[in-house]
Parts: sequence; structure tokens; C-alpha cells
Amino acid sequence: MKMERFTGCLTGLAIGDSLGAPLEGFLSFTVTADLGSHYTDDTAMMIGIAESLIECKGFNGDNMAQKFVSNYYKEPWRGYGSGPPRIFKMIKQGRRWDECLDKEIFPGGSYGNGAAMRIAPIGLFYFDDIKKLREISHKTSQITHSHPLSMEGAALEAYAVSLALIREKNFIQKLYDFTILDIYKKKIKAIEHLLTEKENRDRVVRELGNGVTAHESVPTAIFSFLSTDSFKDSVIYAVSLGGDTDTIGAMTGAISGAFYGYDSIPKKWLEKLENRDYIFNLATLLFKTKKKLLDLKIH
Ligand SMILES: [Mg+2]
Repeated sequence: MKMERFTGCLTGLAIGDSLGAPLEGFLSFTVTADLGSHYTDDTAMMIGIAESLIECKGFNGDNMAQKFVSNYYKEPWRGYGSGPPRIFKMIKQGRRWDECLDKEIFPGGSYGNGAAMRIAPIGLFYFDDIKKLREISHKTSQITHSHPLSMEGAALEAYAVSLALIREKNFIQKLYDFTILDIYKKKIKAIEHLLTEKENRDRVVRELGNGVTAHESVPTAIFSFLSTDSFKDSVIYAVSLGGDTDTIGAMTGAISGAFYGYDSIPKKWLEKLENRDYIFNLATLLFKTKKKLLDLKIH
């Protein structure tokens, strides 16, 4: 566990989000990589998770939901989807975080990628306990996204971050063994296959997806990380696939940032990143909070 990888992960998420934000909704294309002037809801909600983990020294559903709500009302213009703001309003009116409130908006619950896009701090904080990592990923998702595809997509993204953090060599096999849903097992097999083939963006989009659902974007982010060999290339590749570019960029940036570390992020992107110091300090505090807990466990 290294601080450089914590700061790389959370900053990497914000960079991928800001890089993808101006490109959202386009078809796949060649990117002339430049950061948009603002990050979006992906980063804003990641910040809420990190703030809550630091404040409560671990997961606390009430506190985390309150962070989402207060951060949303401070900056409602961050490009939130249609569901979360309605849920935030319900929570503000006194509803509980664990009532699966999204089911009142989307029958069966939302299976969007809105839970996975923000989950990186959970992957960092629970990297040493897979069971807990899944359980807390699911609970964190449940505040706004309670469909199993969404909750498991978030857990898979968190797990990918944790594997990147420890630089796991057997990355794909670990992901395959981890996930409990067939749809994700199939996607991981597809990733494995695509990695052996000649680069073909259309095929990647066709087989892995580039949409707003969790199962059509989390595997795409994992592939973007695995098929490239630098932070810069991975996020440029991710957003070049088109579709939900800010979120696929954010999820890729989080994994790559955890793997390559803060210093691997191009300086000209860092200079342009909005609230860079705040995000950096948040990652530092998250690291220190985790380290303290680990030291307590050892002694
Ligand atoms: Mg967004």
C-alpha cells in the first residue's frame, strides 16, 4: 500500500472524468486529448465516498448518503443522471439510505453505472479484505443503484482498483474468480480474448459496450487499463471508444492511477484539473486513515 497509488487513483478518476466529459455521447473516434474544464458527477460522488470513509473511519450509510446529498445541493450542475437527484430529495426529506429508493423510480432498481463510477475509494480502503470489499461496494451502490448488475458492477470496479493497487499479476483470473454474476464472467472471458487479438475498437465496443449500464461499461474500463501500458494511453483509449466517455474514462483512470501512481499522470492534465489539491489531499487523508487502522490491527 503506497500513498502515491491512493493519490494516483482518485486523481486519475477525476482526470479520466474531465477528459471524457466534453466527448460524452459521441461515437468512437480519435481523441486529441485535452481536459474539459470541469469534472462531473462521477468525481463529485467519489469525493462524497472518500469524505465519508475518512470521517467515519469506514462505511457508514447514513453519513455517506448525507455527503451525496450535501455535495449535490452545493453543485447540482455536475451532470447528474435523472435518478440520483430524485433520491437525494427523498433522503433530504427523511427517507433512509438503505430503502432501495431507486426502485420507486426504476422498477427493479437502476442498473446504471452510477455506482461503479464513484466506487474507487472503496477499492482502496478495503483492498485487504475481499469479502468486505464486496459487501461495502454493494451497500454503497444501494443508496442510488440497487439492481444486482449495478451493485456487482461496482464491486468489480472496486476489486479491479484493489488489484491494481497491489499490482496483482494474475489480474484477469482474479476478476473472473471474484465475480458472482454470469454476465460479468462472460465479459471477463471476452476481455481475455480481445487482449490476444489485433486492436479493433469497433469490436471492443460491440462485445464489451460503451453505454450507461454497469455491465456495458465496467468491463470496458478494465479492458482499457489492461490493453495499454501507461496511465495516459489507457484513459485516451477509454474515452476514444465513445458513448459514456466521462464514466468509462473515470473508471479507467481510477484503475490506472492506482497501478501507475500519481507521478505517471501527465503534468499538463494535472495543471488543468479542477480542485486538484482538494482531491489530492483527500486521497492522502484516506491513505492515512487506512494506515492507522492497519497499524492498530498489527499491534
Ligand atoms: Mg458524469
